[in-house]
Amino acid sequence: MSICRISPAHLGDRYRSLLHAEGSAVLLLNLSKVTEQYRALCNALPGVEPYYAIKSLPHPAVVEHLLSLGCGLDIATAGEIEMIRDLPVDTNKTIHTHPIKRPQDIRAALNFGVTTFVVDNIWELEKFIPFAGRVELLLRISYRNPEARVDLSRKFGCTVEEAPFLLQRAEQLGIRVKGLSFHVGSQSKNGEIHAAAIRAASRIMQEHNAEFDENVETIDIGGGFPVNYGDNTLGIEAFCAPIREALAELPAHFRVLAEPGRFLSAPAGTAITQVMGKARRGDTTWYYLNDGVYGSFSGQIYDHTHYPLEVFSDLEERETAALTGPTCDSIDMIAESIVIPPLQIGDIVVGHMMGAYTMASASDFNLFDRAHVVVMDDDQWAIDTVTSITA
Ligand code: PLP
Repeated sequence: MSICRISPAHLGDRYRSLLHAEGSAVLLLNLSKVTEQYRALCNALPGVEPYYAIKSLPHPAVVEHLLSLGCGLDIATAGEIEMIRDLPVDTNKTIHTHPIKRPQDIRAALNFGVTTFVVDNIWELEKFIPFAGRVELLLRISYRNPEARVDLSRKFGCTVEEAPFLLQRAEQLGIRVKGLSFHVGSQSKNGEIHAAAIRAASRIMQEHNAEFDENVETIDIGGGFPVNYGDNTLGIEAFCAPIREALAELPAHFRVLAEPGRFLSAPAGTAITQVMGKARRGDTTWYYLNDGVYGSFSGQIYDHTHYPLEVFSDLEERETAALTGPTCDSIDMIAESIVIPPLQIGDIVVGHMMGAYTMASASDFNLFDRAHVVVMDDDQWAIDTVTSITA
C-alpha cells in the first residue's frame, strides 16, 4: 500500500526543473543523506566497523563518498570490483561476502587486494585450498527471521550445528577462519534477532577457541538495519539497543563488523517522474509515469517495498487514481486506488526513500530510458534548483 503526500504546487518546481534539465526521469542521489545515515549508524553501534554493501546502491559516487567518511566495503562480485577499481579503496577495509563464488570472483577479489571471504559450506571452503595462507575466512551461519522483509538466511548460511564441524575442517585444511558472519534479513523489524545471532555466534566461537586453542574472534553482524518507509519502523537508536547489549557481553578482544546496505543508501534516493499520459477507466483516473517497476521502482517487485510518494497541487478536489509505469506490461503498477488531486500531463510525481534496491535492479524493458542518476549534496541541490527555477 502506497502512502502519498500532497504538497503545494510550488514545492514541485525544483523537481520539475531538474527533470527538464535531464530530459528524462531522474533518480536524485543526495550524498548529505548518506553522511547522515552513516553517522547515525556509527553512533548507534559504537565500536562496530561498517562495510557498505555495494549491492544496495551500486553507484561510484556513493561508494567514494562513504570511503571518504571512513567506511569499509562489502563486495560481492567481480562486477562490483570493476566499478570501484579507480576509487581510493583501502583494501584492508574490504570483505567479499558472497557465500557462493565463481572462480573469476575469487580471482578478481584477490588481484584487487581483498583477503577476507565468506563461505558457508564445505565445497566453498575447498575452493580456498589453493589460497590457504593468503586468505582469512568468515563462516556464515543461517539465522532465520520470518519478520524481515527479505529473508537472507534461507538461501545462505550453514546451520548453527554444522558450524563447529566446518571450523575444524578449515583448520585441517590449513585455511584460517577468523570469524563468523550472518545476515538476519533485510529491513529487519527489531534488533532482537541480531542480538540472538550474536550470542549464538559468540558461543560457537568461544567453544571452538577453548577446544582447539584458536583465535576465531571476528563477528560480522551483516545488514538488516531498517529505514522508515512511512510504516512506523523503529528508529536506529531503538533498533540497535538490544544489539548493543549483546555486543557488550562479547569478550573484549572480539572484533565486530557490519554490512549495512539499505540503511546507508535508501534515504539518499529520490525518484523524480513525470506524468506522460492519462486515461479515465471506470471510476479511476490512470496516470502513466515515465518511470516504473521496470526502472527505479523495481524494488516494489524484488524488494517488496512501497515508497512514500508525493504529488504537487493546490487543488481542493480529490479523485481515486492509479499511478503506473511507462511500459506495455500491466504489472508495471506503482500505486492503485490512491486518493490525490487531479494531475495534468507533464505534472511531477516524486518517490522518496528510493536509494536502496531500486536502480540496482532496474532493467531496460521496452527499451525505455532508465532514469538519469543525478548526484548532489544538500548545498548543491539548493543552489542548482534556485538557479534553474529563476533562470
Ligand atoms: N550483506 C549481504 C551478504 C547481503 O546479501 C545484503 C543484502 O542483500 C547486505 C549485506 C545488505 O543488507 P541490508 O541492505 O539489509 O543492510
